[in-house]
Amino acid sequence: MDEARLITPLLKALHFAADKHRDQRRKDEDASPYINHPIEVAELLARVGGVTDLVALQGAILHDTIEDTDTSPEELEREFGPDVRRVVEEVTDDKNLPKPERKRLQIEHAAHISRPARLVKLADKISNVRSVTLTPPARWPLSRRQEYLDWTEQVVGRLRGTNSSLEKLYDELLAEGRRVLSALAPETPG
Ligand code: ZN
Repeated sequence: MDEARLITPLLKALHFAADKHRDQRRKDEDASPYINHPIEVAELLARVGGVTDLVALQGAILHDTIEDTDTSPEELEREFGPDVRRVVEEVTDDKNLPKPERKRLQIEHAAHISRPARLVKLADKISNVRSVTLTPPARWPLSRRQEYLDWTEQVVGRLRGTNSSLEKLYDELLAEGRRVLSALAPETPG
């Protein structure tokens, strides 16, 4: 395959996402640039998951543009086509709903989304588990970090059977995250 047919659209997605997320920072102590996260998600898909599907890779790079920037679904379709639009919409929370409901719906929906959307969601949870373990949001208490890990386990439980390499890495990072966080927890007496 002509490599430019993969590389050019990937770089276009990267350019688009970098521009859309340009003023955003992550919630970690160093306030790292937001774009690092979608880059990591796409890189995990390619390197760990062996994914070469362009829709999944573009979907990974663009996965937070509707949820967290002014990007509309129509704009994504115009720039990247209907398949990429659908994948991003499938991994986008409805921000009109209260947070607990959104989290519950992610678990419920995970079982029913398309294969490229499942791949993106798996890599997204890997990236987030790593962040919550190593570079957590500055204001999150330990209990919130532990609850977050527990919730990702429920979402990923609905995604099993999608990509064994990604699932294995998720399992390792979850176990590592729980070890790190329990070492931070005060001893419970008795
Ligand atoms: Zn994400």
